[in-house]
Formats: sequence, C-alpha cells, structure tokens
Amino acid sequence: MEGKRILRVETRRKDLRFPFPENFNQRLEGARITRLGRRAKYLVGELSNGEALIMHLGMTGRFTIMGKKKPGEFHHGAGEDEKHDHVVFDMQGGARVVFNDARRFGFMDLWPLADIDRYAPFDGMGPEPISNAFSGAYLKEAFAHKKTPVKSALLDQNVVAGLGNIYVCEALFRSGVSPKKLAGSIKRDKLEGLAVEIRKVIEEAIEAGGSTISDFGAPDGDLGYFQHRFQIYDREGEPCLVCAKPVKRLVQSGRSTFYCAACQR
Ligand SMILES: [Zn+2]
Repeated sequence: MEGKRILRVETRRKDLRFPFPENFNQRLEGARITRLGRRAKYLVGELSNGEALIMHLGMTGRFTIMGKKKPGEFHHGAGEDEKHDHVVFDMQGGARVVFNDARRFGFMDLWPLADIDRYAPFDGMGPEPISNAFSGAYLKEAFAHKKTPVKSALLDQNVVAGLGNIYVCEALFRSGVSPKKLAGSIKRDKLEGLAVEIRKVIEEAIEAGGSTISDFGAPDGDLGYFQHRFQIYDREGEPCLVCAKPVKRLVQSGRSTFYCAACQR
C-alpha cells in the first residue's frame, strides 16, 4: 500500500466496531498512501490529501492481499470466511487489500494528519517500547510513587504504548519481576532489565508478524499464521521453563496474569 494510490474502496457494511467516518470511501479514493506506519496497536496510513487513515485490528481483524483484480470488479472472497470481508481496497498497481474481521472489534477512522497527536487514543500516550525514549530510567520516572501493581502499570497506555496482556506477562517473567510488585517500589537495576525484555518481546512479536506477511501472496488468502511461542503466557500448571515449578495464574484488572512465584520476585 505504501507509495500507492487508493483507486477504489468498497465498504460492505456501515460499521465495524464503530461507524465508518462520513464519506469514508470518497475521502480515500484518489489519495496516495505516502507512508504506512504504526502507533501503539494502531496502523496509520499517511495520505497525500492531508488525512491519516487510522486502522485497528481489534481481536480478529486481518489484512489479506488478494492479488491483481480490476478495480470495480466485485469482490468475491475465498471460502466461508468471505462474509467477514468488510473493507476492500483496490490499489494502484492492481493489488487488492481486504480487511476481514469476524468479531468486528476492529475499526477504521480518518483524522487530520497535521493534528495526529490530538487523536484521542494518541493524546498523552506513552513512548513506543522500541524507541529511544523508552528505558529503565524512563520507567523509574513513570513509575515514581505509583502504588499499582507493575502488571497494571505496564498495561496503562499512558506509561508505554502498545503493550498488551500477553507481552507484559512475557516481559515480567523474562526479567524476573513479580507482577504483584508495586510499580513505584521496583529498583532501578530491575527496571533496566525489564525495559530490555519489553523491547525484546515486542521486537520478536514484530518479527513473527513479518513471517506472516511473507505468506500474504497466497491467492487463497491463507496466511499460514506464525505460531508465537510463549514462555509463560497460558501455561498455568505447566512447569516453569527455568525452575520447573508449576506456572501460576491470577487475575489483575480483569486480565489473566501468568507467572512463576519462584522466579519472579
Ligand atoms: Zn520458575
């Protein structure tokens, strides 16, 4: 999509998680995507017309490149999954990019590019974990006086952007930090280790996504999902990979936390 003009957009319903913005299709058609990037869990397409196309995958959303089709040729997806193909982009060069989302927690929005930092979810959002602004020193400052458990603090998008439940569990395990420890009470050297592991976990996840993207060309839309291997997440009762004691689970802020009581202090 990057560098290409959007020739035609087909929306097959009025909404996803939220309604599409007014005149969504017309505002996109003819615009070039000058840059395709990401902020936290949001995909951001910077458009030549001064708008930003903001996209979120929700829980089950995914993009598939369907190969060359003539713009305007009606979209027929492959298989019974087709009824969840909600948005179709016909790109300059002939690629057809289809957004499929069975549970429709995903959404798309348009916002003035020059004002992107004021888009509500981005306003006050913490730094990207793989940016230079993120470090142990940053965490020390962000956690100062915080009396919430570190698990909850890391899920707060105003502390660090884009960390989800799975990756917080993984990073806490790898850095040996108990999810129950109060954020403000963690020593500087532990926070350095935590920052390093957060960065690694996110980089590995992006790498895993990269493996998926390389399969996108399959004409049947089969993605061949990369199965990301978790060290602690969803392993309750199984032996800890470090000490072999059973992995524990607890619920914090309504989300499952998996941890090793022996390795994480
Ligand atoms: Zn252990």
